[in-house]
Amino acid sequence: MTAARYDVAIVGAGVVGAAIARALAHYRLDVVMLEAADDVGAGTSKANTAILHTGFDTKPGSLESRLVRRGYALLSAYGPIAGIPIERIGALVIAWDAEQLARLSEIAANARAAGYTAARPIALAELTRFEPDLGAGALGALAIPDEGIVCPFTTPLAFATEAVMNGTTLALGAAVEARAPGSVATHVLQTTRGAIHADHVVNAAGLASDEIDRLFGHEGFTITPRRGELIVYDKLARPLVNHVLLPVPTARTKGVLVSPTVFGNVVLGPTAEDVDDKRATGSTPAGLARLVAQGRRLVPALVAEEVTAIYVGLRAATEHRDYQIRFHPAERYVCVGGIRSTGLTASMAIAEYVVEGLQDAGLRLEARLDHRPVYMPNLSERTERPYHSADAIARDPAYGEIVCHCERVTRGEIRDALSGVIPAPTLDGLRRRTRALLGRCQGFYCGPTVAALLAEARGCSLADVLGIGVGSGAQDEM
Ligand SMILES: Cc1cc2nc3c(=O)[nH]c(=O)nc-3n(C[C@H](O)[C@H](O)[C@H](O)COP(=O)(O)OP(=O)(O)OC[C@H]3O[C@@H](n4cnc5c(N)ncnc54)[C@H](O)[C@@H]3O)c2cc1C
Repeated sequence: MTAARYDVAIVGAGVVGAAIARALAHYRLDVVMLEAADDVGAGTSKANTAILHTGFDTKPGSLESRLVRRGYALLSAYGPIAGIPIERIGALVIAWDAEQLARLSEIAANARAAGYTAARPIALAELTRFEPDLGAGALGALAIPDEGIVCPFTTPLAFATEAVMNGTTLALGAAVEARAPGSVATHVLQTTRGAIHADHVVNAAGLASDEIDRLFGHEGFTITPRRGELIVYDKLARPLVNHVLLPVPTARTKGVLVSPTVFGNVVLGPTAEDVDDKRATGSTPAGLARLVAQGRRLVPALVAEEVTAIYVGLRAATEHRDYQIRFHPAERYVCVGGIRSTGLTASMAIAEYVVEGLQDAGLRLEARLDHRPVYMPNLSERTERPYHSADAIARDPAYGEIVCHCERVTRGEIRDALSGVIPAPTLDGLRRRTRALLGRCQGFYCGPTVAALLAEARGCSLADVLGIGVGSGAQDEM
């Protein structure tokens, strides 16, 4: 690969890096997003609880608190414009003993200090009316009416698609391995796809943000992955839960919750366990047993429902309690590290904050007058999808041909995902763009057809698609 020069290089195309790329795409700049994986949003950003947090439980005065509040407002406004499913279903922080009941007023006071004023205590009678399937023994709750759920897959894809549509170079399979001593004016990053030169570098490498930070000579924090295991229950469980059901949080974790998803399922989790391996995304019998025990107490009927899937995400926890966003203007380098358990919500505010910092470091921001907006295919269970749109089917019969029956995904949607601005490079990429293979059969029935469509689009064999993965058709030349 020939070396190229950019105004800004962003390391990492998770929800945070993609949000930063999107924000920079409003200006006349040459930006490259360097992503080690073969797709956007394939790290921690694809494996979270997908709550759109109001920030009621954040530490007042912290950077995280400020950016979660601002990110909530920005993403709530952007979601409907960009086709990101969001449902403001509200949350209930439930007290199960006298000590927890006493703590609800502290949590309400914390919420007010953090800038969220709509929290209100509710008595047991109202709680049971809201949640008739709640387990016995609850004493009361604090209602957080604005807490929401959001699509974790569409969000980073929308950001990255909008960025690419407006000139950002997306370099997939480009892991940054080293930083070469460059000239005074530019950084030289060695990637697995060759070297690039950039005036400014933004480190949004998630679990590897500490390692990238060290390449720049900084030692400010160390990531200790905090594993979170989650269980997804089938759509038949959805009527059992109306709100996000939260426990009273501890200093270390928000605890195990039960929440509907925008796909119409119910999720139970996550656990919180520090591990020493940044690839430890396997589930554990002990973790799942703990979840089932807690789920049985929260909503007893839930654990009798069919399990659709189990997944695991790793939070980028550090020895610090706050985000590790550090500007080094003289070095034209920004570290966006330690974005632990609220980064999906805060992503757009983090991007706004980083762009301001880049400007302070000398980046010239000249608005792009021909900026193009994005509108993503709908993955929500609540609003019309192609299979039940007579208009869509009349326009294009491929939207009437269902391939994945569990999630009702059509051949037309799969075709679109394979030929979009950032085409799905793998079966996992197709899952996150269409919901195909995500249903209760987990691809048992539709898997061969979906794999054949992917193989045909990529011009490779079925074995390649089903095996180790395929080279991405989405890569731009750097
Ligand atoms: C169990 C769990 C539950 C959560 N629940 C919520 C929630 O309900 N609401 C919420 O708002 N947030 C939640 N979060 C937090 C949220 O998921 C994260 O804060 C967010 O996804 C972090 O995004 P990121 O872009 O920083 O990291 P990532 O998504 O991990 O992206 C970093 C990217 O950098 C790439 N990369 C790494 N090293 C290199 C390199 N050397 N070169 C190039 N690329 C590299 C990686 O491949 C990766 O794609 C949760 C997290 C977990 C784990």
